Amino acid sequence: MISLLVVEDEQSLAESLAFTLEKYGYQVRLTHDGNEALKILEEFTPDLILLDVMLPGKDGYEVCREVQRLPKVIPIIMITARSSETDRVVGLELGADDYVIKPFSTRELEARIKAVLRRKKSESTHPEPESDLAIDFERRIAKRLGTTLELSPKEWKLLECLATHDGQVVSKETLLEEVWGADFMGDPKTVEIHVYWLRQKLEENASKPKHIITVKRKGYRFEP
Ligand code: CA
Repeated sequence: MISLLVVEDEQSLAESLAFTLEKYGYQVRLTHDGNEALKILEEFTPDLILLDVMLPGKDGYEVCREVQRLPKVIPIIMITARSSETDRVVGLELGADDYVIKPFSTRELEARIKAVLRRKKSESTHPEPESDLAIDFERRIAKRLGTTLELSPKEWKLLECLATHDGQVVSKETLLEEVWGADFMGDPKTVEIHVYWLRQKLEENASKPKHIITVKRKGYRFEP
């Protein structure tokens, strides 16, 4: 059974929410106060929190901020009476997953609860793969799995050029022009050779590159 903590000080709204959500099959715990909500969270971990913004005690934003500090990830849907864009953005920036604006239908709310839970579940089963590369262009430090890579000035320029076109294909001609300069009398082979060297340093397996991808007949694409 999916458990919800509903934090809402408007008595009648809170009770009708709890009633309807229980009818939908959720286990609902109700509180009318921000401080009380945090106390409840010390001994109870709901699957999701429905959190009103304007509350006695700590307001919804403060509760939201404190929930982010808890060791467990608990998704939050903010309930807001304010319709201004900034208020919504504040909630999302504090870590809320979604929001509903009063008045809302319980059907809409339930759809959002389901969407948030679904998203959280897929995030936890398919976590974003972390890159093995850490590149600081400003300080010119590149690391792979924590080990600093020694890159030549040309390799830096090449990497920088590829990375600034983030995700887009860069042709060998463009690379020649941007890295070696328009008056350089070289040919695309020069680029190929430097890409080869760069891959030796950057890639776990240079023959199966994950960061500098060859796009046939077009050029190269950088993946962080
Ligand atoms: Ca309120």
